[in-house]
Amino acid sequence: MESPSGSVLVLNQNYEPLNICNVRRAMVLLWLGKAEVVKTDSVTFHSVTQSFEVPSVVRLSYFVKRPVPQLKLSRKSILARDDHTCQYCGFRGSNLTLDHVIPKQRGGPTDWHNLVCCCLPCNNKKGNRTPQEAGMKLRRQPKKPRYVPYISFSRFVAAARHEAWREFLQPYLVGLDLSL
Ligand SMILES: [Zn+2]
Repeated sequence: MESPSGSVLVLNQNYEPLNICNVRRAMVLLWLGKAEVVKTDSVTFHSVTQSFEVPSVVRLSYFVKRPVPQLKLSRKSILARDDHTCQYCGFRGSNLTLDHVIPKQRGGPTDWHNLVCCCLPCNNKKGNRTPQEAGMKLRRQPKKPRYVPYISFSRFVAAARHEAWREFLQPYLVGLDLSL
């Protein structure tokens, strides 16, 4: 199983996802004894005298303590959570907008539980109505994902969609099933 384009997932000593770096950087960490290999790639790197297994996931041998920032609500974060997929009809692509499930003018809050990714036709069709009034059904209930936000949320979700890394990242995405 190959990792995304020569990238290596770096885990903290306690296995929390910490960063994504390139193979060269990861090799330096390993060579300095600052990290250990958790998972290797199917690709092998050959030098003149030796061959190395390319790491896919490494874990630091020391604990990096960092303040945990808040997961910020943003258009980009909602699109990442919903995988750029309209939550009404399932259309996936660009040119998507955000929909307030309970319309804003009717007191619907601007938060993780009331914002979903929506295509323009569905947005027009729904108008200023609730999904129930419009006869439209949400594919899943929007939730605020829990995650360790050292890595930006959209990057984290994109990384978690790679099979090789999913087992390390999915546990932090409670409320977001990437297999859907
Ligand atoms: Zn749609």
